[in-house]
Amino acid sequence: MKQLVTDTTFLDHAGTTLYAKAFMEQFSQDMVSNLFGNPHSSSPSSQLTTRRVDDVRLRVLRFFKADPELFDVVFVANATAGIKLVMDAFRDYGQGDGKSNERKGFWFGYHGDSHTSIVGVRESAQGGHHCFAHDDEVEAWLSQTGPCDHRPLPKDGQLALFAYPAQSNMNGRRLPRDWSFRLRESAPGRDGGLYCLLDAAALVSTAPLDLGDSWKAPDFTVLSFYKIFGFPDLGALIVRKESGAVLERRRYFGGGTVDAVVNTDTTWHAKKSQSLHDGLEDGTIPFHSILALQAALDIHERLYGSMDHITRHTTSLAKAAYEKLSSLRHSNGGRVCEIYNGKQSTFGDSRTQGPIVAFNIRNSSGEWIGKSLVEDLATIRDIHLRTGGMCNPGGIASNLGLTSQEVERNYVAGQRCGDDHDIMSGKPNGVVRVSFGAMSSMRDVDILVEFIREFFVDATSAGSIRGPQGTPDPTFVVESLTVYPIKSCSGWKVPHGEAWPVYEEGLAWDREWCLVHLGTGAALSQKQHPKMALIRPSIDTEGGDLRVRAGSGSGGLVQEVVIPLHRNSGRAFTVKEQASRVCGDDLIAQTYTSPEIANFFTSALGVACTLARFPAGGMGRSRRHAKAHLQTEHAKEATRRSMEHTRVLLDPPILLSNESPVLVVCRSSLNRLNEAIKETGGKAARAEVFRANIVVAELGAERPFVEDKWRYMKVGKEVFQVRMDNLRQLSVLRR
Ligand SMILES: *Cc1c(COP(=O)(O)O)cnc(C)c1O
Repeated sequence: MKQLVTDTTFLDHAGTTLYAKAFMEQFSQDMVSNLFGNPHSSSPSSQLTTRRVDDVRLRVLRFFKADPELFDVVFVANATAGIKLVMDAFRDYGQGDGKSNERKGFWFGYHGDSHTSIVGVRESAQGGHHCFAHDDEVEAWLSQTGPCDHRPLPKDGQLALFAYPAQSNMNGRRLPRDWSFRLRESAPGRDGGLYCLLDAAALVSTAPLDLGDSWKAPDFTVLSFYKIFGFPDLGALIVRKESGAVLERRRYFGGGTVDAVVNTDTTWHAKKSQSLHDGLEDGTIPFHSILALQAALDIHERLYGSMDHITRHTTSLAKAAYEKLSSLRHSNGGRVCEIYNGKQSTFGDSRTQGPIVAFNIRNSSGEWIGKSLVEDLATIRDIHLRTGGMCNPGGIASNLGLTSQEVERNYVAGQRCGDDHDIMSGKPNGVVRVSFGAMSSMRDVDILVEFIREFFVDATSAGSIRGPQGTPDPTFVVESLTVYPIKSCSGWKVPHGEAWPVYEEGLAWDREWCLVHLGTGAALSQKQHPKMALIRPSIDTEGGDLRVRAGSGSGGLVQEVVIPLHRNSGRAFTVKEQASRVCGDDLIAQTYTSPEIANFFTSALGVACTLARFPAGGMGRSRRHAKAHLQTEHAKEATRRSMEHTRVLLDPPILLSNESPVLVVCRSSLNRLNEAIKETGGKAARAEVFRANIVVAELGAERPFVEDKWRYMKVGKEVFQVRMDNLRQLSVLRR
């Protein structure tokens, strides 16, 4: 098994499962001890590849109990490519031969729980399409009892394709498997123009797919192998040969799929016809990946015996996770997790439910906790889970009660796939998904449940909303001021006694710059590039420069680059305006074009990047705190205490994106936190790890967490509005 750092809890097996160490070893052994040529020739090395690929094809069919007389397997890049191959053939077939044949495209029906890759097929379905929102609707159609008049169902004789997932990748519900067979038997399928495409990608990772009875099998089945074995990144389209003729109508041909081509005086070609896969696998097949399946199958069988074992194991884990998560309660009795398994499925019943738990979390006031916060905190604990829309628009909409209008409205309001707009108009628009695999254990379940309990369960007495406190407290002093000139890089302490300008957007020069990837233009973050913490900017106010140092004294040389602070300085470097993404927001950054600057940062980080500046006017700076960055594994200590403030953070009366806060940490609270950390044997956190701008300290006796009650803070003549963010830092806004 892949050696994971013992602290890692991997709960995204529905994304990809983990490959076994023995598998990698066997595969690499195979690669280094054989010479595999391109399969399209007759050299011994080529013949070896061909022979081995044929063997693998047979083994794959056997893995799914498919009789090679009756089924063929077409290797494709992934499940999505398999779906597109079927779509291409249907589209081409549906266009007819251009002469006598008068077909008008093909009709496409799909189930509401389908993956996005299935939904997209509708764009090619010129004969109409229909989404079956519920199982009942499919049942009614199959039994011809439902009203058909108002629905765009396929007409008699029309070429038609019905697609559905064997398991929802979003909530793990397993759908009825007899639909393909009933479709074949039922009246709508009578004329042979109606086909069924089963998306088995989610199912096969933890359950057997049995194509033993060819009459009951879907016409086309797609899947991705990395979901079963962790590797290779390869997919398959399994075709029931009797239904294969329609795929041969695909017009395109490529290297490998034709026997002869004429393209001078006239155009003519002869498709390969020995087997179905010969005519469908364009170009050189991914033969190394295909060969890896041999080791994958060997080791998988050796480690786990059969898919039935995996089903039993993962089903019991998911049942335990479901039961534990659903029993979590806040101290006021409020439910913590809202779990989205369909009404039709039951945890513990592997026929109706796979090992996936999709949920959202509420605080003790019943308000939703954003999925991004859950993911950020999980990252601190090295728990790998997935959040968001799961590429399953129908499943999300029906489970979360989102109407099409709401989805469109959220899009117009700025929500994009993968961003951190978590709660819009009071409703979550994505889920937290945990999924189990063959090598998951009950310990993983316990770590997950303990994590949720630790961070999100409010164990304090119910309804303790603190009232405002009136009297100002004169006993605090500013202990230090820190600015972070380059986002995610090291901070620079303002020298003691030096006055520092503070603007609407925050402290002068704070997060004025960022590093952007030279390829994508996206801003780099410390989360992905921990080495950024070793890049040390400082502000030379006298010289008017930003000085950036990198490298360590020991062995490596300390390098420095000097960049004028002022844009209109005669020495300024040239910049070009470039679209960038910072913390999920699109904006225009001014990227430095100098190779000297790019080389400096590229060699410091080992990533192709350069410096960029936000344009004057604070466009970038205004958003820089839109998302708090979690820097320490002990931040959870702090977070737990601030759960009651979460609401303020998630749905702030003044959007953080419009006003930029200055982050404040209180010395005594930090001390208290460190005492707690030391008690549990942890390493004390320094104020810097919170990336605070201002550290304040009491002159008299320590009163940790007193800042919870602050609403305003006055430094000199400046009055700041105070707000708590999810790190229990005070965000202050200049008034
Ligand atoms: C993962 C998945 C897909 C897409 O698989 P790719 O390998 O990304 O093509 C499609 N459908 C379901 C149900 C899935 O789980």
